[in-house]
Amino acid sequence: MKKSATILTHASQLLTLRGNVAPRRGSQMADLGIIEDGAVLIENGKITAIGTTDELRPHSKAADEIDCRGKVILPGFVDSHTHPVFAAPRLIDFEKRISGASYEEIATAGGGIRASIRGVREASDEQLAHHVLTALNEMSSHGTTTVEAKSGYGLDLASELKSLEAIKRAAENWPGTVVPTLLGAHTVPPEFREDHDEYVRIVCEEMIPAVCGVPQVRAPHLGANLGNNARRQLASYVDVFCERGAFTPEQCVRILRAAVQHSLKTRVHIGQLTHTALELFAEFHCTSFDHMDHVSNADIAFLSRIDAVATLLPAANYFLGLDAFPPARRLIDAGVAVALATDYNPGTSPTTSMPFVLSVACTHMKMSPAEAITAATINGACALDLQKKKGSLEPGKDADIAIFDAADYREIPYWFGVNRCWQTLFAGRE
Ligand SMILES: [Zn+2]
Repeated sequence: MKKSATILTHASQLLTLRGNVAPRRGSQMADLGIIEDGAVLIENGKITAIGTTDELRPHSKAADEIDCRGKVILPGFVDSHTHPVFAAPRLIDFEKRISGASYEEIATAGGGIRASIRGVREASDEQLAHHVLTALNEMSSHGTTTVEAKSGYGLDLASELKSLEAIKRAAENWPGTVVPTLLGAHTVPPEFREDHDEYVRIVCEEMIPAVCGVPQVRAPHLGANLGNNARRQLASYVDVFCERGAFTPEQCVRILRAAVQHSLKTRVHIGQLTHTALELFAEFHCTSFDHMDHVSNADIAFLSRIDAVATLLPAANYFLGLDAFPPARRLIDAGVAVALATDYNPGTSPTTSMPFVLSVACTHMKMSPAEAITAATINGACALDLQKKKGSLEPGKDADIAIFDAADYREIPYWFGVNRCWQTLFAGRE
């Protein structure tokens, strides 16, 4: 039988994030469960023991050893909010925005989200899958092992399905874990500018049924002819962009109700540009509320009572050159579980680097380095409902591990703009 045990030894710091508390809130977010001269024993893709190198050595005689002297070992990052299915960078937006152009001027010059919609509609399945896979590989080279990936630049049934198929194909060729999300409600596509509600109907009645993986029986007499039986589930989540200029709270509620009826989990883009009360969405038990630049005290009180995670995306604020950032301190100090993600997308956050996001979180949102790491690992896992398998290094969990060329975990957000990730392991393998 092929040996499949590996031991990582002599880490300067092993960040376990252990303790069965998920999501982490308040002062729990600063507790990384650090073991010095740390070791991790991995068997058949799972972590079977953690401890000091001396403690684990006697139990690991037959294991392959990876010497991690001078390194920090931590759970692989969970990037719980990305938009990787696009065809081209948005360089017109980038340059025009620098010169002070408005959204309208950018759109007139051929930029904006419409450029991404055109690109995805015209791209082949292979091109999109290739782009997604390239992004996933970049992400893992920076220590990310689990990624949430949204559709949302196709915005018609065929192009949203093509986008989710591209995610699925890329995921099959990447050793990490990908959680697919339907974001048909990203923006109203140009052809429905005069009839937003008709587009919402298409999301509810065409897109959601098509991605949920459940054969549909519209009428009992069709029961014998279920050509959809082999339909694959293409999304685990439905996301909506609740914002002025995108979808109203009432439209979002309609879409999320359709999602729940089709047994899909829910998450919401909210509070990026303007405030919307979170309690409007209480009935959906959303796994995560994302962006959260604009929050009220009532929202914070609501979030501190429930398990939903607030996923903050400060790389978007950075890239847009904004002065304001999501209020991480207010949220954490009030007991809200905070996660961090890249928001990787061509318009507002073209970065695949979680270490960069951690750096921005520390410098611009005043999160401590320890809080940022918790937000990017165990709380990110909670933001995808994967906390039983991912996000901490404890016996029984998947051996998804990032190893950084750093003697102290604070170096991970400290060295910004460079990649100090030395190795990424997925289920114990490179
Ligand atoms: Zn987003």
